[in-house]
Amino acid sequence: MATILSPGPKVGMVSLGCPKALVDSERILTALRADGYRLSPDYAGADVVIVNTCGFLDSAKAESLEAIGEAVAENGRVIVTGCMGHEAEAIRAAHPRVLAVTGAQQYEQVVGAVRLAAPTTASPYTDLIPEAGLKLTPRHYSYLKISEGCDHRCSFCIIPSLRGNLASRPANAVLREAEKLVAAGTKELLVIAQDTSAYGVDIRYAESPFQGRPVRAHIVDLARELGSFGAWVRLHYIYPYPHVDHLIPLMADGLILPYLDIPFQHASPAVLHAMRRPANDTKVLDRIRGWRAAVPDIALRSTFVVGFPGETEADFTYLLDWLQEAQLDRVGAFAYEPVAGAAANAMPDQVPDSLKQERLARFMEAAQAISAAKLARRIGTWLEVVIDDADGERGASGRTKYDAPEIDGQIHLRDAGFLKVGDRTIVRVEDSDSYDLFGVAAD
Ligand code: SF4
Repeated sequence: MATILSPGPKVGMVSLGCPKALVDSERILTALRADGYRLSPDYAGADVVIVNTCGFLDSAKAESLEAIGEAVAENGRVIVTGCMGHEAEAIRAAHPRVLAVTGAQQYEQVVGAVRLAAPTTASPYTDLIPEAGLKLTPRHYSYLKISEGCDHRCSFCIIPSLRGNLASRPANAVLREAEKLVAAGTKELLVIAQDTSAYGVDIRYAESPFQGRPVRAHIVDLARELGSFGAWVRLHYIYPYPHVDHLIPLMADGLILPYLDIPFQHASPAVLHAMRRPANDTKVLDRIRGWRAAVPDIALRSTFVVGFPGETEADFTYLLDWLQEAQLDRVGAFAYEPVAGAAANAMPDQVPDSLKQERLARFMEAAQAISAAKLARRIGTWLEVVIDDADGERGASGRTKYDAPEIDGQIHLRDAGFLKVGDRTIVRVEDSDSYDLFGVAAD
């Protein structure tokens, strides 16, 4: 939990799930702060506790229920929101004492429930919130959510039924938020959505005025504008539509980071078809070659699901071969897990758990070897690094432009007592392991 100081009732926040949920938590807290509420760093000091849940996988739901139980036991006055909020009956069955349950993005309902549970008399005029709103990430990086929902219907996913179809924010609203964040100290903007490259499709790429000129709600136009603010701009959850190729010149020009996070999920055409995702793996390999020709140091990150229903040994071997060809820089993988309400649950030929785990281990072994070889090639080079952690004495760790916070690797620095969180510095790489680098900062 995080802390701010001012009069008014105190709210505790437990934020679970993905960066998109974290942005929801920040919006809820910003709205409450504007109403004069304070944030409590612990259960004991809170007048009411909000638990922002994740409901994507059954394991995430179990974690959410556990967090709700802990909040009920420790504080007793608990409001539940987030993706698991659409399962109000299950939540109330497990924890009948919760005060209210609301769904994802129902900011007004959450704020209304907090007002009922802990009425405030504090004045929003004397309790000014920062221009950039309240943030749960460190001050030097911020998630920037550009749209909600998704128009795809991947068979393993229930996000569209939880969050609805794609709903893009106007370009000028996104840019104003980014401008305030940078003015407040953000040095890295992490652009997120369920499907970032679909941004603007629902509003027909509508133009909106920003700084006296029209800006299209299109990811390429938006990325170009964001790149002009001077912060690092990192794109997440990019679905590889053809127009993604137009982002590459922005990387070559240094406007946005040479980094693409593309959730490929699989490579076998048969599995991608069953997942209801486009099966264009060979074209994707050609495009990756083209991206690397234009921006040789581009870092590609992706996530994969192994053991999807119907995945044969041939499909899995195809995926391993594809990975060797693609040589992705950063890879996350999961063994397929059924999600209540997802179409994939009813599919035949479910893969036994032991086989899923075996394939996951084989896949991660291959991905790890690629990562280790790529990182070893960085030994002896100089890289710009942003500091995420510093103990103020000797050690510090940070990231290069090739790594996103929390999901990618780090660079660990020796003799770094002079560095502070948020500093950018030049580092000589001295060593590497499978996922991380080790080095020393220039004086
Ligand atoms: S694109 Fe992502 S959010 Fe949309 S349905 Fe597929 S997995 Fe779910």
